[in-house]
Amino acid sequence: MSYRHGRGVRNAYGSYRQRENSDDINDGSSYNAGNRQSRGSAQGSRGRGRGGHPPWLKGKEIGLYYKKKAQSSQQPTHAIRLNPHTERKIKNLLESMPNTNFRPASGTGMCDGIDSKLKARYDHINDSHFKKNFLEIVSGDIQQNLTKSMLAKSKLVQNDTYDKRAIEEHKERVASPGYQKMLKFREKLPAFKMRRQVLELIEKNQVVVISGETGCGKTTQVAQFILDDQIERGNGSVTKIICTQPRRISAISVAERVATERAERLGCSVGFQIRLEKELCRDYASILFCTTGMLLQFLHSNPALTDWSHLILDEIHERSTESDFIITLLKQIIPRRPNLKVILMSATLNSDQFSKYYNNCPNIHIPGFTYPVQEYYLEDVLQFTRFKFPPPPEMPNNHRKHMKRYKNQQKKSDDFLDFIQPYLRHIESERKYPQFVIDQLRNPVSEDLSLELIAELVHFICTNEGPGAILIFLPGMTDITKLTRMLLESGEYPSSRFIVYPLHSRLPTVDQKLVFERPPDRVRKIIIATSIAETSITIEDVVFVIDSGKMKLNKFDTDNNIETLLPEPVSLANAKQRRGRAGRVQPGKCYHLYTKAREMTMDEYPLPEMLRTRLEQVILQAKILQLGKITPFLASVIDPPNAKAVELSLQLLMTLNALDEDEQLTPLGYHLAKIPLDPRTGKMIILGAIFSCVEPVFSIAASLTYKDAFYCPLGKEAEAQKRKLELGLGQYSDHIALAEALRRFEEAKTRGSPGFFCRQYFLSWNTLKLLTDMKNQFAKYLCEMNFLHSANPNDERANKNSNNLALVKALVCAGLFPNVAIVKSVRRHGASVVTPQDGKVKLHPSSINEKCQSFPSPYLVYFTKQLSSAIYLHDTTSISPMGLIFAGPNSKIGEQNGKCVMALPGALSFLCEPETAFIVQKLRAKLEWLLGYKITHPGTIKWDSDEGAVLKGMIELVSQGDEEMGLESRTYHVGFANETYSDSD
Ligand code: ADP
Ligand code: MG
Repeated sequence: MSYRHGRGVRNAYGSYRQRENSDDINDGSSYNAGNRQSRGSAQGSRGRGRGGHPPWLKGKEIGLYYKKKAQSSQQPTHAIRLNPHTERKIKNLLESMPNTNFRPASGTGMCDGIDSKLKARYDHINDSHFKKNFLEIVSGDIQQNLTKSMLAKSKLVQNDTYDKRAIEEHKERVASPGYQKMLKFREKLPAFKMRRQVLELIEKNQVVVISGETGCGKTTQVAQFILDDQIERGNGSVTKIICTQPRRISAISVAERVATERAERLGCSVGFQIRLEKELCRDYASILFCTTGMLLQFLHSNPALTDWSHLILDEIHERSTESDFIITLLKQIIPRRPNLKVILMSATLNSDQFSKYYNNCPNIHIPGFTYPVQEYYLEDVLQFTRFKFPPPPEMPNNHRKHMKRYKNQQKKSDDFLDFIQPYLRHIESERKYPQFVIDQLRNPVSEDLSLELIAELVHFICTNEGPGAILIFLPGMTDITKLTRMLLESGEYPSSRFIVYPLHSRLPTVDQKLVFERPPDRVRKIIIATSIAETSITIEDVVFVIDSGKMKLNKFDTDNNIETLLPEPVSLANAKQRRGRAGRVQPGKCYHLYTKAREMTMDEYPLPEMLRTRLEQVILQAKILQLGKITPFLASVIDPPNAKAVELSLQLLMTLNALDEDEQLTPLGYHLAKIPLDPRTGKMIILGAIFSCVEPVFSIAASLTYKDAFYCPLGKEAEAQKRKLELGLGQYSDHIALAEALRRFEEAKTRGSPGFFCRQYFLSWNTLKLLTDMKNQFAKYLCEMNFLHSANPNDERANKNSNNLALVKALVCAGLFPNVAIVKSVRRHGASVVTPQDGKVKLHPSSINEKCQSFPSPYLVYFTKQLSSAIYLHDTTSISPMGLIFAGPNSKIGEQNGKCVMALPGALSFLCEPETAFIVQKLRAKLEWLLGYKITHPGTIKWDSDEGAVLKGMIELVSQGDEEMGLESRTYHVGFANETYSDSD
């Protein structure tokens, strides 16, 4: 590839044009500027200084002028040229299919009963299994589906033999010593004492809400009460209970626990089913624990849930998007299934809200039992520790220069004083606290997280309080790591007397299990955790809780269209849960690191997930369930998401071509809704199948969607990063590292040493195993749809091009487009990166590219962009301009000041040799057509036919892109001084 500017270049239509005035050509990026004299570049305009705006602009207009200018300077333009060898090859391929017509004649007949307008619209799709299913989805509605589902045969049919068998079995079970032993424990649970009331209420009502403190026995007992009662009444054959759990791990562990309590193994009256893993129970007199996502899958095929007699939605107080969605949908199902009993179970939090939502259905409360917990606030903690906060940050001297920062800081400090003064006056008059405490509380810094204060408090507890584990709640992983290090390095906590456990979701699972073990006498356990220790993990021997009062929450900032992860004040409900953790085995103490005054301003409950996340997947789910227009449906949710979030998500789905302008599923949208993946990674796997690149692309899609397998070992971060870099194969790509990790894991498994491999590379065995299973699941779906020959992702026929890393990266890019960032320069501490939407962003420290000193191309594609302490791109791949052209739909050839330009959506454009542009666009158009065709006519690729030729042409193109970047042997070094990429031409 050449980045040369032609003096006279031919435009797309073959005519030549002389460059008229090079001064007003913005050839944008410093990447291809060629030499510093190239006028009008970003560099050039900066050289003229801020005075460079037209003199007639005033006030805001000047700002806008520079903003626009900065934006246009983010449009790097490359003179791209195919090398003669590739050009010849692609031309030959194109010539071999002059009038390609992939479209066989259309048939008729299979899709009878479908609206004729729809039929006409999709007339170009041949009659097939796909077409039939697709048209059914876009033409039906939920009510029709419910009717159909009600008419289908149900598994719940009264059967005398089964009823009797269930009774006999139950009698035997009750008589067994194992059951009796567990019964003694169960009888002590608060839920057990309410058994009769609970059963009566369910008997009399179709929908009931059950609330109760964590640990009172809702999850493990209620389903058993119902089942045993029904068995005893001779209804075993028509009782099948489904109980949803918010997480995979809880579905399994609860099922195991309940089976143990029933003195049996999984698979008889108790089972579980989560994605990719199941241990099913029998078809009558049984309880199935499953994830909420699994229930959604069941609803696709049987919306009336006719195979179930009771539906228990557990832990609905967590307000996950999935459970809120199901609660809304159930409103339509309940009237059609009068004999389906629905039980909503929640911690004590906001159970009234659910009861109201279901027309004031009855709400029964199970009183819990915990030992009393003494609560302390920041004012008490300061008194105990005599801790002094550092003085507030000094106001900048140079006010003018730092005006904005100064004003912000001043305002924050004023607001804080307005808020705290009345409270301070109040406690001063009460004379409860010494003056030094009041002075400390006046400092605005007292509201920030202080690990030093926590360390002091831990020291105070260890020297002044009796035995018992300490549980500390911090907002995030970085704080956990820092505090763990602070404690260990202080020398005050020798391992003979203390065990310090960091606990967060990125830790290896083995380490997580150790946390539950009781330490030997005289050894104190100190657990430093995120909010996962609030409800999902119970550590019995905790006596002291330190609540930092902050937690990190994923949010979708609709004003800036970006996802954020920032520490926020916890809600009262969280604080209450945290406090409760201290009283499981004996009276405990809880130290909140905020004032009583602050507590009064805290929200009651955490914000439901649906109000703080993107909604693409919810929308696709609603579409596949045929719930009609999305806005009215989402408006009927218990707490409806805001209109802007709905709009932004709809827009993204339309950009991805998953929905059409009428908000109907497109054929692509249909596939994406069927695969439980983010729509972008869904698109990636379909492309992976078409391009015969399944193994690596599926690995990447699975990792991006679920979670990557790299964990973060305390104290060995650098070594782990080195290993990850090794897996990146020198490709400047986190995504390649993900694929390689999984490939080597699978290889190690066949050699019999996966454990060693995982330890060596700091990878989680469990996650890798799950990712492997997910790949199999993708392959199964794509095989069912006909995109693949077999359901084996390692099938040779599906991996003809898996070794071509340039292609793998281009396919990732095609899935993630238009998530493109541009490297503007590299300095010693890392790259300076911008995106067209956000301006400056940072590469996340966990990315392979973060410390990179030179990049082969200035373009990076990314999946996760998140605002935390800055805007971070979490995972990136350096991509060639050819890769971008391959990935970007609707490229346009145009002319800019006599130069031929290829423009992609998202403010990206490249100078292009006209001949190259012409060939590339022709090929791109064929690809676009072929993809459209394949989506509607799923089938494997015939590589020796025209369709194969198009794909081979594209592969040539991206391969050349990478060769030219010289990934192995040559990289372009970004200039430090002038931010200019040198170009040897
Ligand atoms: P809830 O759903 O009301 O929070 P659970 O039914 O989950 O309560 O738990 C009730 C009690 O059963 C808990 O307090 C705990 O002591 C015990 N328990 C639950 N699961 C397990 C388990 N896997 N192993 C041992 N005890 C358990
Ligand atoms: Mg529970």
